[in-house]
Amino acid sequence: SEFSNIRGRFAPSPTGPLHIGSLIAAVASYLDARSNQGEWLVRIEDLDLPRQMPGAADLILRTLEAYGFEWDGEVIYQSQRDHYYQDALHMLAARGLVYPCGCSRKEIADSAIHGIDGLVYPGTCRSGLAAGKHARAWRIQVDDTPIHFHDAVQGEISQVLSRDIGDFVLKRADGLFAYQLAVVVDDEMQGITHIVRGADLLDSTPRQIFLQRALGYAHPAYLHVPVAANMAGEKLSKQTLAQALDSDNTSHDLWQALAFLGQEPPVELQTDHHAAIWQWALSHWQPAHILRQRTILI
Ligand code: GLU
Repeated sequence: SEFSNIRGRFAPSPTGPLHIGSLIAAVASYLDARSNQGEWLVRIEDLDLPRQMPGAADLILRTLEAYGFEWDGEVIYQSQRDHYYQDALHMLAARGLVYPCGCSRKEIADSAIHGIDGLVYPGTCRSGLAAGKHARAWRIQVDDTPIHFHDAVQGEISQVLSRDIGDFVLKRADGLFAYQLAVVVDDEMQGITHIVRGADLLDSTPRQIFLQRALGYAHPAYLHVPVAANMAGEKLSKQTLAQALDSDNTSHDLWQALAFLGQEPPVELQTDHHAAIWQWALSHWQPAHILRQRTILI
């Protein structure tokens, strides 16, 4: 085939239009796959309906096209894949790893200690629901085996899930499947070999590796790029009012994304057509030049 066996992906949540922060992640995953003759897929992570902006998924796809991205195969939508997530939940339950949790937000806040990504659930419902409680969420039981992985930019990462994260939610009280489960199922089903995304997800990766192992899935390679933050140190996002990408500025924005990623694009490319920028970027992609930082102010 014309492709190597490398397959990457971009998995935006349609909570709003793309901004420079999301463009950086898309550019990095695209170059990582394409510069190695790999495939590159797009998946719309529209599980969390309440947080979505109507029309954002289509807008994101049109924006990617306008910037010259070309994806392989059909775009998949997580909102249409509940049955796969349910199957995975059943598999984990059959292994005795899943339990119902009846704790309210307040009960958890009152009893939990802080971990590295929010509260560490104290395991209250691990050995069964207390009388009068009903199942709200479904959690997976983690353990104290350290989870290590190598990230191509951030280096060696290690977490002890029982200490740092706690038993985490797979299916939420509102009936929605959690991001952690859905992303693992979809990356496996789509045959993703290289996950390139923002470093805001670095702390999620050990949970995802734990689920991959529990489900007998393949283990992809990871590369987490720094996240663009504003002067207040906040990640650029819809919440922090990041400016939407404007298809009139494709060359400027791609050039900025490459510069952010440490690629030192030649200045004269800035005013060239985006096709020329892609051509340069594909033949000069140097992941080793990406800064080993979780955030960079822009
Ligand atoms: N949908 C997630 C986001 O937009 C990205 C998930 C991933 O790349 O694993 O932040």
